[in-house]
Amino acid sequence: MSYQVLSRKWRPRKFEDVIGQEHITTSLMNALKRGRTGHAYLFTGTRGVGKTSVARIFAKSIRCENLGDDGQACEACASCENFADTQSLDVIEIDGASNNSVDNIRELINNVQFLPSTGKYRVYIIDEVHMLSSSAFNALLKTLEEPPEHVIFIFATTEPEKILDTVLSRCQRFDFRSPSLEKLNALIEMIAEKEGITFENKNIVEKISFFGNGSVRDSLSILDQLLTFSENNNIDENTLFLGLGLAKQTSLYELAEHILSGDVRSMSEVYRGLQTENVSSEKIYHGLIDTFYELINSLMGGKTAYTASLDSYGPQELMWIYETLSKDLEWASKTYDLGKTLEIILQKICVRREELGQKVQKKKD
Ligand SMILES: [Zn+2]
Repeated sequence: MSYQVLSRKWRPRKFEDVIGQEHITTSLMNALKRGRTGHAYLFTGTRGVGKTSVARIFAKSIRCENLGDDGQACEACASCENFADTQSLDVIEIDGASNNSVDNIRELINNVQFLPSTGKYRVYIIDEVHMLSSSAFNALLKTLEEPPEHVIFIFATTEPEKILDTVLSRCQRFDFRSPSLEKLNALIEMIAEKEGITFENKNIVEKISFFGNGSVRDSLSILDQLLTFSENNNIDENTLFLGLGLAKQTSLYELAEHILSGDVRSMSEVYRGLQTENVSSEKIYHGLIDTFYELINSLMGGKTAYTASLDSYGPQELMWIYETLSKDLEWASKTYDLGKTLEIILQKICVRREELGQKVQKKKD
């Protein structure tokens, strides 16, 4: 069998498998248990948080002929089995991004009149519904005003603000949240265990969730990407840095040390060395901002693996560096050569004590 990407393979198939959306899945299961499903739903939230997965699970439960007392589909009846085959005739998925014309919607609406081939309901899932043209929306609205008994619409969108109020007011709206990092970490660890993937340390799992930006799909794609760089499915720090094109933490500590001691030449050497290892200047810079955050935090008792002494630097100085790094990134991104500009900013921070000293003296004059 060909390799199936992790986000597909581990796509949730039951309400209980969906992470971080309990407020939604509980409410949907309650509606199912009470036999009180509406005719139009709107699922909103950022990409990869499970909108389409929940829409599919919900559609399956709506059509299940032997719905459990808990509101879960039985997985055994004809509708459920039918659903497992790629595309059921009665659960129609439409990508609003590529079927956004009024003609596409008219075709859909004409079909809406037909009864489902089996069971009581036909469910239409329209993904990225905000991409529909306004004439397509208006055509849809007529059906939403008086939907046939057997039709249920589930709309999913990342941009609810682009949807007409007249459509919004006819939908039950559910706002999906990004799952917490803890939940994402736990999910990655669970999947890794079942897939026989090992990590050198827990920090790696945390980095994957962090770079996955709260998206289950993106986090699992990162894990897939790292696997292509790994040997024997073991992901170590090296794989992580290579796979994500990041600077190694030891190099970032080295940079921080040179910046703190004001050693311009050594700082630039490390910086350029990282660039030749194909770490982008932006990733070096972002890594450095995170490193200074860690150092400031460590002065207040937080954890750090930084071993050089911080005794000669007070929190104010570290905070000033953090602030300068963050502020200067904005104008640097508009300059002609970002890599060089970022290096100059780091050099400027190296010589901060002279600079600040001079300013103080001039004021005195
Ligand atoms: Zn069933």
